[in-house]
Amino acid sequence: MSETWKRRTRMVHSGSRRSQYNEVSEAIFLTQGFVYDTAEAAEARFIKAGPDEFIYARYGNPTVAMFEDRIAALEGAEDAFATASGMAAVSGALISCLRAGDHVVSARALFGSCLYVLEEILTRYGVEVTFVDGTDLAQWQAAIRPETKAVFFESIANPTLEVIDVAAVTEIAHAAGALVIVDNVFATPVFSNAIEQGVDVVVYSATKHIDGQGRALGGVVLGTRDFIRGTLEPYMKHTGGSMSPFTAWVMLKGLETIDLRVNAQADTALAIADALQGHDALARAIYPGHPSHAQHDLVLRDMGKGGTVVALDLKGGQAAAFRFLNALEIVVISNNLGDAKSIATHPATTTHQRLPADQKASLGITPGLVRLSVGLEDREDLIADITRALDAAD
Ligand SMILES: *Cc1c(COP(=O)(O)O)cnc(C)c1O
Repeated sequence: MSETWKRRTRMVHSGSRRSQYNEVSEAIFLTQGFVYDTAEAAEARFIKAGPDEFIYARYGNPTVAMFEDRIAALEGAEDAFATASGMAAVSGALISCLRAGDHVVSARALFGSCLYVLEEILTRYGVEVTFVDGTDLAQWQAAIRPETKAVFFESIANPTLEVIDVAAVTEIAHAAGALVIVDNVFATPVFSNAIEQGVDVVVYSATKHIDGQGRALGGVVLGTRDFIRGTLEPYMKHTGGSMSPFTAWVMLKGLETIDLRVNAQADTALAIADALQGHDALARAIYPGHPSHAQHDLVLRDMGKGGTVVALDLKGGQAAAFRFLNALEIVVISNNLGDAKSIATHPATTTHQRLPADQKASLGITPGLVRLSVGLEDREDLIADITRALDAAD
């Protein structure tokens, strides 16, 4: 890879490893193992495997390595480890660096499974977790203690789209010597500058924008070579959360188009948010890239664009939200995001159903809230579909 290549060039070429056939499209190495020429060669590889020497697919595989190198080039990270799902990435990043007696500070507004890992699993093994309002820097400052080993947050909260000041939280955490681990799904690897802002570990669910077409479950952890190979890899390779070569190939091909896709989705999301401002059926149309968003300046500074998700809060509560969802013709009702297909989700009754009512209320997950993941369809078609369904819900 040339150091001077720009993002789109890197996303098409970085990490490629050609076989003796010199194929154009990357090969899928569907093999769990690798043959050694001699017994001595096997012994040598188990002592120390070079970057292009593989032992067993749970440890690494050429197709998976191509994906890891390409996403690392996108994020500007030294190294990456690909995982079987976003949650394997989140749990691996946390568990691999924590031990009993450690303390973690986390933002409260989290994807349900992330909350489960922090609240139910880590605490079971003697890790103490303090939850804060991630947008309130004073709460981070107050919660961090000398034994705080790590802080964790989603840079843009799901589904209410509050934006966390990554650089400011990182500075507070680093002053106390804590590792900063960010779940960056909503920011997307295209708009993220997290590594540049000093974040130590960035985690993605590749299931979302990296695949971008709703085909495969995957994840990735990015960070320094020392963290990825020294801390995370031993944990992942022995506990079994590695990505399959076929999935890595899907994700690798997803990266070839991610910059085009995500930029187009963000532009459409802004157009939708703009078209819906002041609609009679809506209490709010929330989009981080729209000037009406409370943290619009921060979004422009950190990411340039506001991501691919819009949240709509319907005045008429759950009944209106359901009428709206049922009236949509192009946008489908489901729960993925980052897909080429636009997807609408009612968090209060699906993704965040488990949360008690008071917690939903404190996180802004109202009965009328609908999360809209903007796809690659024609912008005018989407605006017409959503506007017509809102009129029907009113
Ligand atoms: C989807 C998602 C995850 C989990 O990813 P999976 O690939 O479904 O395991 C974690 N964090 C966030 C913010 C997500 O949106």
